[in-house]
Amino acid sequence: MSSHKKQPPCILPGATIGVLGGGQLGRMLALAGRAMGYRFVTLDPTPDAPCGQAADEQIVATYDDQEAARKLAELADVITYEFENVDAEVAAMLMRESYVPQGSDLLYTTQHRLREKRAIEAAGVQVAPYVPVASLQELEEAAEQLGFPCVLKTATGGYDGKGQRVIHDSSQITSAYEQLAHAGVQLVLEKFIPFEREISVIAARSANGETTTFPPAENIHRHNILHVSIAPARISREIVEEAQRMAVKIAKELQVVGLLAVEMFLTTDGKLYVNELAPRPHNSGHYTMEACRTSQFEQHLRAICNLPLASTELMTPVVMVNVLGEHVEPLLKWLAHDGERELERQHGITAKVHLYGKAEAKAKRKMGHVNLLTSDVERALTWIHQSAIWQVV
Ligand code: AMP
Repeated sequence: MSSHKKQPPCILPGATIGVLGGGQLGRMLALAGRAMGYRFVTLDPTPDAPCGQAADEQIVATYDDQEAARKLAELADVITYEFENVDAEVAAMLMRESYVPQGSDLLYTTQHRLREKRAIEAAGVQVAPYVPVASLQELEEAAEQLGFPCVLKTATGGYDGKGQRVIHDSSQITSAYEQLAHAGVQLVLEKFIPFEREISVIAARSANGETTTFPPAENIHRHNILHVSIAPARISREIVEEAQRMAVKIAKELQVVGLLAVEMFLTTDGKLYVNELAPRPHNSGHYTMEACRTSQFEQHLRAICNLPLASTELMTPVVMVNVLGEHVEPLLKWLAHDGERELERQHGITAKVHLYGKAEAKAKRKMGHVNLLTSDVERALTWIHQSAIWQVV
């Protein structure tokens, strides 16, 4: 493509943003960016994808389709991605032919757990003790070294708890290995961290090196899928600051442009270990949409367009709760029967419902989320716990 697309200092509203991947993260990027005056084109294999519905245009093609990616490059002034497993050749081609401020090194690092852990350690930040594993014998030795319980993970391709097994004692080693060790796949064994809480920090870094962090969210999972995020996290000021410092250190070390979500374990003795990184908007940052002065989506766009980063201040406590396939029907019924007004009247909680426009509500599929704005986080958690919507598990 023409050289004028290389490294523009500042991409102003009116420009077109290309989004590789058409899921909910892309959709919420497009919704935030269109409010700012940007245009959007997305590439996704499913017609009428969540982001396609919110974008000006969707290219319907598989993610490894070089021709389609080239068309995306032609239409867009800047390209971003909403998932990590971008095909390496496509990423390289887009880098050559368009402007991809996030680069491909960041993808290369975060696509592989071992590379990711080494990068985090290089930033001077702790991860759970781990050992690379390439055979059953190596797994036996690694388990001996780390002790039980420990967690075996595939180095690539895992998400929402897929591609991992907790090993409680030596009798479970062989079956865990057999379940995960497909031909040629690299594995990693981690020490199980008996965490008190899981938290995450979303950092933003712009092309000119400016950084900000959002307030840490406290995350609770059900069946390995994020269930709720709470902000502010119920942790001390010192831990908040330490977690934010760690996220910024990693973002700088990795030369991030855009967002970096950093998931961490907090132990009872106040130690933080980084579990995972995601170089994109993150489910645990959806709370920012109504609760912060600036949403994670707007901040990501500001960072990649090299606009000044904006305030991340939390304006109200909030609980974000995910809506999975099995929750859609009861949620819609609740909406139709004046649920929001009742919630406001009885509990002083304002519900902001976000649905992603996915055609099929398959079980466990992320279909939307609700941000509960409240002065009383415990009350919101109790309400979720008792609500008929999230009884369905
Ligand atoms: P991951 O796919 O690495 O994000 O792991 C999914 C979930 O499994 C995490 O959010 C934790 O709840 C749990 N988990 C993963 N690794 C560990 C570990 N080393 N120690 C304790 N829990 C873990």
